[in-house]
Amino acid sequence: MKDILPCTVFFLLFNFSFPSPIQPGETPGEMKSIQIYLDKFFPTLHKSDSRSLVEKIKEMQKFFHLAETGKMDDETRRLMEQPRCGLPDLAEQRSATQIWARKALTYRINNYTPDLPNAKVDQIIPRAFKVWSDVTPLTFRRVYGPADIEIWFAYGAHGDNNPFDGRGGILAHAFYPGRGLGGDAHFDESERWSETNREINLFLVAAHEFGHSLGLEHSNVRGALMFPTYSYVNPATFRLPVDDTRRIQRLYGRRR
Ligand code: ZN
Ligand code: CA
Repeated sequence: MKDILPCTVFFLLFNFSFPSPIQPGETPGEMKSIQIYLDKFFPTLHKSDSRSLVEKIKEMQKFFHLAETGKMDDETRRLMEQPRCGLPDLAEQRSATQIWARKALTYRINNYTPDLPNAKVDQIIPRAFKVWSDVTPLTFRRVYGPADIEIWFAYGAHGDNNPFDGRGGILAHAFYPGRGLGGDAHFDESERWSETNREINLFLVAAHEFGHSLGLEHSNVRGALMFPTYSYVNPATFRLPVDDTRRIQRLYGRRR
């Protein structure tokens, strides 16, 4: 008892004066939400991966250029609440980057969002593809039958084991080049899609998703189109950032 008491006092003092370094979240609910976020966006690469939750939070904070505290501080909490793309940020090591072998690709708009007139969607989608065809030899042609890139607006579970989550959170996801679902882009119909800075701008999200359709993973360069979280820039004056231009040209070369 004599020996234990001073330790206890020290522990209490320590705990009182510093935020606990052991418990990354404040409540069980918060711990759960960190775990879900990390499992989805920073998936474990190997079964033997034994990094602690604190290490994983630090990894996420590093990716997003936040202070690497290893715990849920306000900055981290705000980041996790930001609307974003559904694809992981540190992707499971893909054996090789998948790219399309053909330069002439096709797309199909399978359905429309009630948030915008169909004619607007018909304008926005090709403009989002043009972001990529402007800097590469790729071309995109709209077809009304099976296409390389199938575009859907969908609610909740929509048959690809990647259910959407209602309004906010995940806005959309896409599949890397390949057969079947490969190249396809899905948009969460629970969002309010817009052509302005109100709610979620369809052009910006579509241009981002089509980057994945072409084989790009997320970038941690702030301001890059392939950055995982949504942030508004004016589509009328949008220019593909240098980081995205370099990365897509590494896959497909420059425009001839
Ligand atoms: Zn993405
Ligand atoms: Ca959502």
